[in-house]
This record gives sequence, structure tokens and C-alpha cells, in this order.
Amino acid sequence: MKMHITIKKADPSELKSKPDETNLGFGTYFSDHMFSMDYVDGVWQQGEIRKYGDFSLDPAAMVLHYGQAIFEGLKAYRGKDDRIYLFRPKDNLARFNRSARRMCMPELDIDGVYEGLKKLLEIDQQWVPSAPGATLYIRPTMIATEAALGVRPSRRYTFFIILSPVGAYYPEGFNPVKIFVTDKYVRAVRGGVGEAKTAGNYAASIMAAIEAQKKGFTQVLWLDACDRQSIEEVGTMNIFFVIGDEIITPPLRGSILPGITRDSVLRLCRDWGLQVVERPITIDEVFAANQQGLLREVFGSGTAAIISPVGSLYYKDQECKINGHHTGELAQRLFDELQAIQYGHKEDPYGWVETI
Ligand SMILES: *Cc1c(COP(=O)(O)O)cnc(C)c1O
Repeated sequence: MKMHITIKKADPSELKSKPDETNLGFGTYFSDHMFSMDYVDGVWQQGEIRKYGDFSLDPAAMVLHYGQAIFEGLKAYRGKDDRIYLFRPKDNLARFNRSARRMCMPELDIDGVYEGLKKLLEIDQQWVPSAPGATLYIRPTMIATEAALGVRPSRRYTFFIILSPVGAYYPEGFNPVKIFVTDKYVRAVRGGVGEAKTAGNYAASIMAAIEAQKKGFTQVLWLDACDRQSIEEVGTMNIFFVIGDEIITPPLRGSILPGITRDSVLRLCRDWGLQVVERPITIDEVFAANQQGLLREVFGSGTAAIISPVGSLYYKDQECKINGHHTGELAQRLFDELQAIQYGHKEDPYGWVETI
């Protein structure tokens, strides 16, 4: 379906000055324009690209009370050839629709919205940074906007896309992070909404993250809500363990987010002939493997940090130090390979990359 998009560009005098690309932080700056589209009476209305700015929301807007809110996160990369690259963008939109189904929200026409995203990127292309490690983070979001109280699906929604030039996600950059394993709090439970990128999951995670940060850790590793033993994932990353010759990541059973980076890591490792399995793995198994000298690497995967080596895990007053707190060989290889594909520096045999 061809999407009709109304474009109202900001007046040149209203354009923002660009931030220092070497000091962007994460998610603090936003580009000049945004895409938005409303859902009314069972149909998506015309999409619109306009100046980045406030919404007007009724205080009874259902998202504020019952939390129907979903989002996605992907990045635009500026290649050495100055072209703009996207990594598996339609997979993000497909996941957005899965989140929408789970939260009883309307699905998007993926091709139409993708056209809207490309148009937005074209208009704000100056916002895709070229400094090393800097990218343009893309945040598609949908919220329930009907003004009504009562727990049921909203009849109105707003979908929008905003763009934020970002630097490294963790202050550590591509350096090993320290992770706190919590058995006090849980993130999600099978049958719940853990596999949807829905706002409430992140609200629910903040308390554990703050407690971990106070103790000097970067992030929290979540365990299964029922057995408090099987490993789930980190705040915004899936997780991998290298034990002996085996690469292990927890299976998708409904409570963890099916990461696109996770899927890409699995694909690369399989293609490299490595032994990789999706299976349940407990925190006790990880600590035991470390004691036996078999735990070689731990790393996280996610769009924000791509690959994030884990230097230590802290659980029940015990520290598991990994690979002498150095970045492992596999983490480095995956990071280099993914970055090379994402920036268009290397040929992409998988059809993952789209150019604008
Ligand atoms: C977004 C996210 C991930 C990573 O997904 P990618 O598609 O690789 O970016 C992992 N875990 C959680 C909880 C997330 O929100």
C-alpha cells in the first residue's frame, strides 16, 4: 500500500544547531523533524512529517493510566562513502507489530511506515553523525490516546518516530561492564509481556537498576521469575556465555525480548562453524564453569551497545570475574563484524542492510 505523507518542513530559522558529535551521550538530543500518524475509528490516518515538538494529550489519555505504549529502537549509520545505512529495519517494524498484537494495539502497514521513516531520514540526514562510534538512534513509538477511564483497549492511538544522535550507550564504551545478578527482583514472567517492547517492562526494571548502580554496577542481569536460577537477559541486552567450546544463550520462551542483534549473533556464529546453542542456563552453572576455568567469555547483545563484553558478574556476595576483566576474542570478532556490516564497510551476505 502506498502511504500518503504530508510534509510540513520546519522553517530554516527554526532549525536547531547540531550538537558536538564527540560528546553526544545517549538520547539527549533530538533532530528537527518527526513522523506521526493517528489511528481513529479503526483506520490509520495520513502520515505526517513535521517539526519536532510537543503533543497535546488529554489528561484521561489511556496511555497515562493503563500503559498501552510500545516502542522500537534501531540505528542509522553513516558509512565512509557518506551513505546512510539501516540494519534490519523491517525486522524492527515486524517486532513492533508483534508488540502491538500483545498489547491489543493496532498493527502498522510495515512498508508504508518504512517509506515514512526513509522520508524522515532523508529530511533530517544532516543529523546522522559521522564521528566514529556515533549514530542516529531511531525510536518508533505508539501510545493510546483515547480520553477514557476503564481498562480496555483504547480506540485511538498515535504512532510516531523521533530521531536522536547518540554516542556510546554505556560510559564504558566497548569495554567490559560489571553486572549485578538480582534474585530479589524479576523483570517478566512467561505468559506476561516480557517479550513485547512495552513501556511498563522498563518502568518495572528501574528500581533494581538503581540499587545495582548504587553498588557500582552498570546493569542488572535478570533471572527467571519462577525458579530464580535460569538466566534471562540484561536490562536492554540479550546475553551470551562461552563455556569451553560452547556458545550459549537462553531460549526465547516468552519472557525475554527477542533481540535482532541476538539473532544476528546466532547467525554469524553458526556461519563461522562455531558450536552455538539456545538452551536454559542457570547462574549456578555459570559460576561452576568459572570455578573450573571453563567460562571464557560473557557478552551482551543489543542495538544500543551492539556487543557489550561483561567483565564480572556479582551474585549472592560472590564475584565471577571473566577473562581477567578483558574483552573476549569472540565478543571482539562479533563487534567488528557487525559494525563492518552496519556501516557498509563490508559486503553484507545476509540482506540485513538497507541504504537510504
Ligand atoms: C531492545 C531490547 C533488547 C535488544 O534487542 P535488539 O533488537 O538486539 O536491539 C534486549 N532486551 C531488551 C529487554 C530490550 O528491550
